[in-house]
Amino acid sequence: MGVQLRNVRKVFGEVGVIHDVSMDIPTGDFAVFVGPSGCGKSTLLRMIAGLEDTTAGAISIEGTDVTNREPAKRGVAMVFQSYALYPHLSVFENMAFSMRLRRAPKGEVREKVLEAARILQLEDHLEKKPSQLSGGQRQRVAIGRAIVRQPKVFLFDEPLSNLDAELRVQMRLELARLHKQIGATMIYVTHDQVEAMTLADRIFVLKEGIVQQAGKPLDLYDDPDNRFVAGFIGSPA
Ligand code: ADP
Ligand code: MG
Repeated sequence: MGVQLRNVRKVFGEVGVIHDVSMDIPTGDFAVFVGPSGCGKSTLLRMIAGLEDTTAGAISIEGTDVTNREPAKRGVAMVFQSYALYPHLSVFENMAFSMRLRRAPKGEVREKVLEAARILQLEDHLEKKPSQLSGGQRQRVAIGRAIVRQPKVFLFDEPLSNLDAELRVQMRLELARLHKQIGATMIYVTHDQVEAMTLADRIFVLKEGIVQQAGKPLDLYDDPDNRFVAGFIGSPA
């Protein structure tokens, strides 16, 4: 169960960017894909989300093959680096948006949004517009929109890279707390080794569309399979 990839490949035009990737992410794990820019992290995440089709191989989520399923029916929610909030809507309405689309009952919408706001400490900001929030608060709203959808799997694509260093550390702690609290499977993409080492239950080190090594952070640190992993995990940028 959890998320499984079997011999997944992605070719853009003539160019292969993901080569035969297989992985098992158990339910409830915090998995991190780490690797240098251009190694295929976002492409892999977008394939799991269904935002890119899969050239070959299979993806399953909680035992269901979702390889050819549309994004909305995969049970995933994605949080992007650029928060993509609706500027004209309040924090409350930004978080409620997907439930309103599904015509969820008003009471249920309110309940779910307030619960997400409580987890993310946004209760005092629900009537504000995104422009009235700090960068960290905006990122929390983006995460809140994902929580409200109650996905089986949260997908994060470098969600903290637009924040300053201090806030990044704070948000990292909040993400770890969030994961403990809601216990959902999370897959997190970053090129930042420190972020990977501190957040992950399980790290997948990628280089040029190939998983170089997968394992617990300290196992990779203590016992890297090759020079690339040793250099990349051992020397934070
Ligand atoms: P990362 O997120 O690790 O920085 P990406 O997954 O964005 O890497 O990109 C991996 C490779 O695939 C890069 O060489 C990139 O240029 C290429 N790529 C990504 N998206 C497309 C696309 N839509 N069309 C063609 N090439 C793409
Ligand atoms: Mg990327």
